[in-house]
Amino acid sequence: MTTLLRDVLTSGQPAFSFEFFPPKTAKGTRTLWDAIRRIEALSPTFVSVTYGAGGSSRDRTIEVTKRIAAETTLRPVAHLTAVGHSVAELRHIIGQYADAGVHDVLALRGDPPGDPGGTWTAHPEGFTHAVELVELIRSLGEFTIGVAAFPERHPRSTGWDSDIEHFVAKCRAGADYAITQMFFHVEDYLRLRDRVAAAGCDTPIIPEIMPATDVRQIARFAELSGASFPESLAHRLEAARDRPHVGHRIGVEYATAMAERLLAEGAPGLHYITLNKSTATLEIHQNVLNSRSHDALAAKR
Ligand code: FAD
Repeated sequence: MTTLLRDVLTSGQPAFSFEFFPPKTAKGTRTLWDAIRRIEALSPTFVSVTYGAGGSSRDRTIEVTKRIAAETTLRPVAHLTAVGHSVAELRHIIGQYADAGVHDVLALRGDPPGDPGGTWTAHPEGFTHAVELVELIRSLGEFTIGVAAFPERHPRSTGWDSDIEHFVAKCRAGADYAITQMFFHVEDYLRLRDRVAAAGCDTPIIPEIMPATDVRQIARFAELSGASFPESLAHRLEAARDRPHVGHRIGVEYATAMAERLLAEGAPGLHYITLNKSTATLEIHQNVLNSRSHDALAAKR
């Protein structure tokens, strides 16, 4: 991989990316690789692999990320958190990635294992905030570094001013871009972007797109992200509770409309959560590509 992700992100073309998690079972691995192969055919800007709260899932993240680098044409971005790691361990993991040709890391603080809302305790020889991980990675070589951004503020935030200040500190420390937490109101993204710009920071912030296709997902979304969910969408999904194909269509339409509006508002790309299945995200992405080529044709006429 010769071009750095950092340079791709400043090329002016929207970056399209897809997020996976490391599977636990052989069946899960087959589903993941089926999704990876379908997504590979679309030549996205990058794909990313989440980092677990601890134990073997972390080894699987490293394994999947290295395998994507070795066996596909995709650019893998490795999520990495400071949870439970000493600085020496973090250095070792980053070194492993560099040896495998992976030079793209999403640097995160992480949450207390088992209880995302619990008290954060740093490893005695580790880090307290993501900014320190950004500094470490920056000191270790030629990496493109991503960080997290929160359109509805970080769940532990004490106020917008401090959240923006800490976000800008991560960018000044060397982050090249950010990916947002999931959200369902475009205005939340636009307000965050404007606040960051007003603080003098022009780091690209890629919005995350999470298709909501089943009313039963809503509680889990709130638990994972604290994102507020549109009432009208919740009602429509509730009405389709026992008709999965209708829920699927509603979720794909809603996410497509969000994605198109975000790009029209100047978002630098879209980061799709796949949950290791490709169907909904591929449909949304195809809709987005179709409407972009339609707009390009209309502009030529
Ligand atoms: P930080 O930037 O450290 O911020 C955490 C909080 O501390 C914020 O409220 C911030 O304002 C505050 N803060 C920051 N710096 C300071 C300072 N110097 N002094 C005082 N307060 C400060 N988690 C996983 O475990 N694995 C994953 O793979 C994963 N992937 C993610 C991908 C994306 C796109 C996003 C948005 C989140 C992801 N997360 C993941 C969740 C993330 O780890 C948590 O949301 C975590 O609580 C915050 O991480 P951060 O990197 O934003 O932390």
